[in-house]
Amino acid sequence: MNSTSKQHIALISVHGDPAIEIGKEEAGGQNVYVRHVGEALANLGWHVDMFTRKASAEDSAIVEHGPRCRTIRLKAGPEAFVPRDNIFGYADEFVEELLKFQHQAGIKYALVHTNYWISSWVGMQWKKRQGIPQVHTYHSLGAVKYQAVDTIPMIATTRLETEKTVLETAERIVATSPQEKEHMRSLVSQKGNIDIIPCGTDIRRFGAINRLEARQQLGLDPEEKIIFYIGRFDKRKGIETLVRAVGRSELRGNANLKLIIGGGSRPGQSDGIERERIEGIVAELGMTDFTIFPGRISDELLPVYYTAADVCVVPSHYEPFGLVAIEAMACGTPVVASDVGGLQFTVVPEETGLLAPPKDEVAFATAIDRILSNPEWRNQLGQGARTRVEQKFSWDGVAHQLSDLYTTLIPKYEKVLVKAGA
Ligand code: UDP
Repeated sequence: MNSTSKQHIALISVHGDPAIEIGKEEAGGQNVYVRHVGEALANLGWHVDMFTRKASAEDSAIVEHGPRCRTIRLKAGPEAFVPRDNIFGYADEFVEELLKFQHQAGIKYALVHTNYWISSWVGMQWKKRQGIPQVHTYHSLGAVKYQAVDTIPMIATTRLETEKTVLETAERIVATSPQEKEHMRSLVSQKGNIDIIPCGTDIRRFGAINRLEARQQLGLDPEEKIIFYIGRFDKRKGIETLVRAVGRSELRGNANLKLIIGGGSRPGQSDGIERERIEGIVAELGMTDFTIFPGRISDELLPVYYTAADVCVVPSHYEPFGLVAIEAMACGTPVVASDVGGLQFTVVPEETGLLAPPKDEVAFATAIDRILSNPEWRNQLGQGARTRVEQKFSWDGVAHQLSDLYTTLIPKYEKVLVKAGA
């Protein structure tokens, strides 16, 4: 390890707290990404501070994840949950708190890696005030998202402008899939430097046991045909397509069929509305007797569920990457996913699973039935899936690529500063 890789770096994730319980309101892929990237970078020798907004009075201000890696929660706005579209109003305060923290701690950060557009704005202000190289990961692109929604929020103009500016000015943008890079180029700007470094998963945690053991642990019958979904309850996730597809599956009359729809938070929170809507469709289609809603699945049980399933379905309308697909694949479970975004990168049709057009319940039903009706092929797809994740999507591999990127950017930026007389 060279001396550069011992420096302090900051990861910013204003709305996605890396230390929070995943599955809680609005907590999903971004939180997982930041936490794992941070921890893996610390293992490589970097001193990593992950900055987020303090969203609850009960949460501690600093969480230590291990040597050289911590989450720092800054007070910006109320110490309560604020939907992400409303957080930008507190971004100014976040910048001030960040600079104050840095000053008090006496730390000089060599680089900032921002996540999601709100954090990109914070990073750009930091850069303006103090000169710091910026790497940015979008997690979601406004230009793509607003194509797919019925009502465009007030914040859209600010978001689109910010996303364009960061693409054109950051030292490097990290696209998590070739499809995401293509969207940046066609919908945001031709300018700016983009590298493709995918998201990763823990290939030791996911894939540690076999299917029979997993089913025993969960009390599930080895003969059952299990279709599994996990993720946030959000319309964009397309859970309705999955439910309607299973509703018309050829296996519908089979007593062994089981649909498990995991994730979501506690009643009364905003994603509860989508969960109630989905439960309503399940009831309307007469599927209640074979559909289970286990709620949020703990970190310990998540790999067990993935492994126990015959097929994992990711029916999102759009997905810049889609961590769920690679988690399932790491567990040797084939994936049926929407033919969109990063899912076109992670899932290789006929090798690791199948792709179907988004919102197309007939195509999803056909794909699910093809896999469930041929156990031998299902196992082959599962093996192909595991191999693909081992080769391309381990956190350690991802962190090495990011670390190499930082190592090249930091000295380059220092030269730029010297030239500018800063
Ligand atoms: N996760 C979840 N619900 C749970 C437990 C965990 O969604 O009850 C995790 C899931 O394992 C994955 C992440 O949340 O790591 C969801 O990431 P993805 O990229 O699939 O979707 P996003 O939430 O970013 O839209």
